[in-house]
Amino acid sequence: MTEATELAIAGVQISNLSKRFGDHLVLDDISMNVKPGSVTALIGPSGSGKSTLLRCVNLLETPDGGSITVGSQTIRAGDRVKDRELLTLRRQVGMVFQSFNLFPHFTVLRNVAFPQEKILGRSREEAEARARVLLERVGLADKADQHPGKCSGGQQQRIAIVRALALNPRVMLFDEPTSALDPEVGVEVLTVMRELADAGMTMIVVTHEMQFARDVSDHLVVMADGHIIEEGDPAEIMADPREERTRRFLNAVL
Ligand code: ADP
Ligand code: MG
Repeated sequence: MTEATELAIAGVQISNLSKRFGDHLVLDDISMNVKPGSVTALIGPSGSGKSTLLRCVNLLETPDGGSITVGSQTIRAGDRVKDRELLTLRRQVGMVFQSFNLFPHFTVLRNVAFPQEKILGRSREEAEARARVLLERVGLADKADQHPGKCSGGQQQRIAIVRALALNPRVMLFDEPTSALDPEVGVEVLTVMRELADAGMTMIVVTHEMQFARDVSDHLVVMADGHIIEEGDPAEIMADPREERTRRFLNAVL
């Protein structure tokens, strides 16, 4: 879908990250190394801190301890982050949420073009041309002039992915991108994600889709209660988890 040559990819390093909400330590000393061009799947029970961890990577949440490195940019907890640094980080990191968050009053084309104009300063013509190319690649060229409300959930999520990709991110974060979709529609979204992985994008994917995790991810991280309880080769962990809590979680989702 995206030629490897047009991707400038980055790795992500998370070091000793902690995050509290009030008294609740939601992330406790999390360290993770995501190599450039690799796919990490993040699994674990609800409330274990997966979304908070992703949101810390692009500073939608402010970490209380530790540091995050994306490419050559490091942000340490406690640093005062300048607007320009935040913008640089956000430009490098694309994020796709469970709820697609498309602009309902914009056409599909404008949804994909508008952020390019605002964030990258592209002309409308340039942004719309890029939007059309990307929509074509995910099979949605014919939806360009419709409103998102006329599209299926799977189509809307593919539009959300394309909207993020249009900004040329170096890393893509996915937070349960198919959880709100019927399984047959989720497949369309997983196919796009698989193509993106094949093209060499660095990805961190929170998902309960264990087949996707096994087939596409290079590394599996299991979280519980704000900790990484187990990590390693996806197929190995799925076949023979070390931790009882991993086993229970896998039994529930497989
Ligand atoms: P997961 O994505 O693994 O389900 P989350 O990262 O959403 O977990 O949440 C981890 C914990 O942090 C949960 O106990 C949740 O209730 C709490 N939490 C998440 N966001 C907030 C917030 N903005 N304020 C207070 N508590 C929060
Ligand atoms: Mg979550």
